[in-house]
Amino acid sequence: MNYSHWIQKAIQNKNKQLKESRENSTITKKQISKHSMVSIRDLYKAQKWNHLIKLAKQTKGLFEEYDCIKVHKKVIKLEESVLINSGDAHDEDYIGTIKQIISIKEPTTLKLICLCRVQWYMRKSEIIKSNPKSNEWISEQELFKTKHEDYILAETVIHSCQIFTCKEYVNLDEIESTIYFNRLSWDIEKKQFQGLEKLQKFCLCQQPVNPDRKYIQCDSCHQWYHLECVGLKEEQLNDFEFICKLCL
Ligand SMILES: [Zn+2]
Ligand SMILES: [Zn+2]
Repeated sequence: MNYSHWIQKAIQNKNKQLKESRENSTITKKQISKHSMVSIRDLYKAQKWNHLIKLAKQTKGLFEEYDCIKVHKKVIKLEESVLINSGDAHDEDYIGTIKQIISIKEPTTLKLICLCRVQWYMRKSEIIKSNPKSNEWISEQELFKTKHEDYILAETVIHSCQIFTCKEYVNLDEIESTIYFNRLSWDIEKKQFQGLEKLQKFCLCQQPVNPDRKYIQCDSCHQWYHLECVGLKEEQLNDFEFICKLCL
């Protein structure tokens, strides 16, 4: 072996060592990131969103917040009200307002997990379970605001919906299935309406207005009554003067 060969061999050895040490450090890095990847993935699989967010926040670059995000061709914006897949029938899809949009990067795959923090609304079907009497005055398109919030996967958002005030809703010319209204809040813990006493009551039965039901106005006192409550049918209404029981 001449000198130049020896030099070459030495360089090769050195490179080999360098390569090995580089590989070792990659393995160590991989082990570290594999460790956190497993954790993030486990939490993702278990849908433990609060834990997942906490963990992601600990590592720089894994956690990001947005005003707007595009997931499966759907654009999700902050403060927008949306229908969320409940996994059941579509008329039971959840409804909430987007309060936070987050992405969490899986350390090795760099796959993004997109989450939204949602403030929930409750539907009639939920409310009447604990308050069956309210069935008469709650509309099918009525929603009740709650203070309850959860994280959901952004991909479970179906599409946006509109939530009007009751006054706006009754004045709409056309009502689509994605149009709702809200006039009251619901306390989930106490299972109580908030603000019910402030609502104007109508008819002999003294109930808040239900836009789904038919009403007739007294030609004398101009108060509104449910057709059923004054014993009338819709086909009887043509050119018909109605004077309520209280005015007769
Ligand atoms: Zn009535
Ligand atoms: Zn009257």
